Amino acid sequence: MKRFSFAAGPCPIPPEVKKQVAEDVREWKGCGVSALELPFTGDEFAEILESAESDLRSLIEIPRSHKILFLQGGATAQFALVPMNLARVGWHCDYVESGYWSRRAIEEAASWWDVRVIASGAAGRVPNFDEWRRNSDAAYCHFTSNESADGLQFHEFPQGGKAPLVVDMTGDFLTRPIPVEQLGLVYASALKSLGASGLTIVIVRADLLVRGSSGGIPAPFDLARQTAARSKVNTPPMLAILVAARMLRWLVEGGGISTAFLRSQERSANLYSIIDGSGFYRCDAAPDARSRVNVCFRLPDPELEESFAHEAEALGLLHLRGHKRVGGLRASFYNSTADEAVDGLLEFMTNFMRRNG
Ligand SMILES: *Cc1c(COP(=O)(O)O)cnc(C)c1O
Repeated sequence: MKRFSFAAGPCPIPPEVKKQVAEDVREWKGCGVSALELPFTGDEFAEILESAESDLRSLIEIPRSHKILFLQGGATAQFALVPMNLARVGWHCDYVESGYWSRRAIEEAASWWDVRVIASGAAGRVPNFDEWRRNSDAAYCHFTSNESADGLQFHEFPQGGKAPLVVDMTGDFLTRPIPVEQLGLVYASALKSLGASGLTIVIVRADLLVRGSSGGIPAPFDLARQTAARSKVNTPPMLAILVAARMLRWLVEGGGISTAFLRSQERSANLYSIIDGSGFYRCDAAPDARSRVNVCFRLPDPELEESFAHEAEALGLLHLRGHKRVGGLRASFYNSTADEAVDGLLEFMTNFMRRNG
């Protein structure tokens, strides 16, 4: 039986990428050693990093003003590293609260500097841009484009504002176009979009890096130093970077972001329409704030939700339980989620409803 994961993370790895990475680990391009045995200072690893960077640059059209960094520590490390690098004592930082992950970011930042929560969402919705009380003296304004635990997403990016925008795009990175030129810093933990944990991609406007808390930042996490050293201040997470490089190539060859975005819209719309039309499944998120990546839904009672997840598993449809803080059910569709997986889930949902509705 084929098995498919709908986990919020890590994303599935397409079979052809798995095969390629397995080959790379066995032997890197006929050079007699494994990709795991390459020194990080050598030409071979430089080539891997270069391929990842140039594919990423072309996929989301990153202007020259912005640098790309490949860092350790996941998005959670960035919750502290963003305030450490972009602000200093006495500065204020604006944060938008829209769900579980933005609250985690706010908590971390508040242990560094003065954090002003400039807008908060309510159940099932994210705060509209016109509700954001942005401060022009803020070091930056942070928001979370996709709340993976709550199944919420900002479908647009805010315009204007004096303070640079900082976005946690871990949840929907590379599933939609990104107006990088309007943003100060974008970060994304690679496991959700590019498949291996431990790596975080940071895209940052170079001129913001001179403002950091100057001193006291550990070298591997000092964004200015990492920029100067091209992400090689010390040994970077090489295996995760290799996986990301292979995934980025796969994305480019598969039609890039416009194709990915269309699929993301189409698949999530199909699932939401089954939910909305069912009178059985329920989605509490407002239509204009629904995540196209993490579709969160409920059944009339928790026992039914449990049998849903259980029966789905027996059919090879895995990891459909919601985030532990939120409960319910959740299906996550990444670029690498197979069409067969999505079709299987929709069919199962229709059958389950017929039997239990
Ligand atoms: C998953 C997720 C994180 C956490 O990523 P880690 O790599 O585990 O630190 C942060 N923010 C968002 C929006 C996420 O979806």
